[in-house]
Amino acid sequence: MIGFNKPYLTGNETKYITDAVASGKISGNGKYTQMCQNFFKNQYGFGKCLLTTSCTDALEMAAILIDIQPDDEVIMPSYTFVSTANAFVLRGAKIIFADSNPRNPNIDTSKIESLVTSRTKAIIPVHYAGIACDMDSIMDIAARYNLFVIEDAAQAVDSFYTGKDGKKKALGSIGHLAAFSFHETKNIISGEGGMLVVNDLQFADRAEIIWEKGTNRAAFFRGEVDKYGWVDIGSSFLPSEVIAAFLWAQIECLDEIQNKRKQIWNQYYNGFKNRSNNFKLPEIPAYATNNAHMFYLVFDSLEKRTACLDRLKSNGVNAVFHYLSLHKSSFYTLKYLGNDLPMSDLYSDTLLRLPMYYELSENDIKFILDAVKNE
Ligand SMILES: *Cc1c(COP(=O)(O)O)cnc(C)c1O
Repeated sequence: MIGFNKPYLTGNETKYITDAVASGKISGNGKYTQMCQNFFKNQYGFGKCLLTTSCTDALEMAAILIDIQPDDEVIMPSYTFVSTANAFVLRGAKIIFADSNPRNPNIDTSKIESLVTSRTKAIIPVHYAGIACDMDSIMDIAARYNLFVIEDAAQAVDSFYTGKDGKKKALGSIGHLAAFSFHETKNIISGEGGMLVVNDLQFADRAEIIWEKGTNRAAFFRGEVDKYGWVDIGSSFLPSEVIAAFLWAQIECLDEIQNKRKQIWNQYYNGFKNRSNNFKLPEIPAYATNNAHMFYLVFDSLEKRTACLDRLKSNGVNAVFHYLSLHKSSFYTLKYLGNDLPMSDLYSDTLLRLPMYYELSENDIKFILDAVKNE
């Protein structure tokens, strides 16, 4: 059996967790939390970084920060995880779904502007498979209509975008806010975990308050205020030091993890590229880098994808499809009044993800390549 995902442990996780526990400070915002946050800030040019218990939580914080009110509208792809939408629905927003583009499942930026109304508050690009959306176009529309951009960078750690100005920017450093995930299915992990990135520093102080249950506790412990109390809405968004210690062990091995994942990705790609396939290989736009979060194939029909999934399953390989268009979900379909989104539906029907994890061996990949090919 070859599973779809296997969480990779670097070996130092329990050592750092033991250290965190021994220090007597195991709630949040301690030494390991600071180390992780400083790493991301310095490595990727992010604004303020706050670890969260999940990317879902980071998105919920973002929705609070931009002050989403009932009936505000946010534009996002339909081909995404439920959390992207849920975070805004929880605050009463109306989700305006945009189609994916024909090249890859990212939002089709040519479809965004016609969806903007006087109620639109934000655009939420999702960097699918860690591959950048066309951020220049998105930031340009946002600037012209005075909208916030919140990057769902859940899959996009250590991936980059090069804009028209020729500058290479880390995904998560471009929008006003960004959300990352360290769920065990992502490149670096802490079981459950995430991070909010605040690039627009007008949100920095309030982000910290929302993070600490609506109190100014963080400022109090820095000695900036002489008592702390309830100053805003908020929740328990910060993870314990146990989680941060785990994440630190992963961060220390980030380069090694990324190199290995890219090797695996390239073995897949090279194994398929010179054949005539009944599927398309992932396409990486010139402005984007590949962080090897995912290896996917796009078939030309649902039937062909089903046949391939079945064939892999009978060979003991667990490949999986991915999102079902959110505008057709049982929760949202009656609330959705927009157009058909044919590309989103197409990816729902035809995209297949192959196993992708650090410990996948060259022989495993050879076996998977053959199993896909044997039609
Ligand atoms: C994984 C993922 C999330 C949710 O991340 P959690 O940390 O599990 O909350 C949100 N959006 C996208 C695009 C994801 O891939």
